[in-house]
Amino acid sequence: MGDEIDKAQAAKPGGDTIFGKIIRGEIPTKFIHEDSECVAFHDISPQAPVHFLVIPRKPIARLSDAADSDTSLLGHLLLVARKLAKDLKLDNGYRVTINDGADGGQTVYHVHVHVTGGRQMEWPPG
Ligand code: 5GP
Repeated sequence: MGDEIDKAQAAKPGGDTIFGKIIRGEIPTKFIHEDSECVAFHDISPQAPVHFLVIPRKPIARLSDAADSDTSLLGHLLLVARKLAKDLKLDNGYRVTINDGADGGQTVYHVHVHVTGGRQMEWPPG
C-alpha cells in the first residue's frame, strides 16, 4: 500500500489525496490561512466546536515519512496552528493532534495537524 500511495503522491503536485485536490483548488475550500508552505481550513466533520487542519503544500504522506530536512516545515505548521488558535480565541487551550498510520487512526495520507478546541478535551483519547 505504501508504494501505491507513493506513486499516487508523485503523480500530481500537492499529492493525489483529497487534501492535494483542496490545495490545488479542485475542491473549493475556504482557507483560514495560506502561505507558501501550508494551508489551513475547518474540518468537514468537526469533533469539537472549533476543529481546523493545517496542511503542508508538500505532500508528505504521514509523519513517519517526514525527513530531517522537514524540521522547519513541521515547526511552521505548529506555529501556524498556534496563530490560528489565537485568532479563533481558543484562549482556554486546545489540542493539537497528528494521526499517523492505521493504529493512529489516519484516514487521509497527506500529513496534517488537527487543532480542536472550544470544549474540555478528555484523556486518554479513544
Ligand atoms: P485523519 O483521520 O487522517 O487524521 O484526518 C482527516 C480529517 O480530514 C478528518 O477529520 C476529516 O473529517 C477531514 N476531511 C476529510 N475530507 C475532507 C474534506 O473534503 N474537507 C475538509 N474540510 N475536511 C476533510
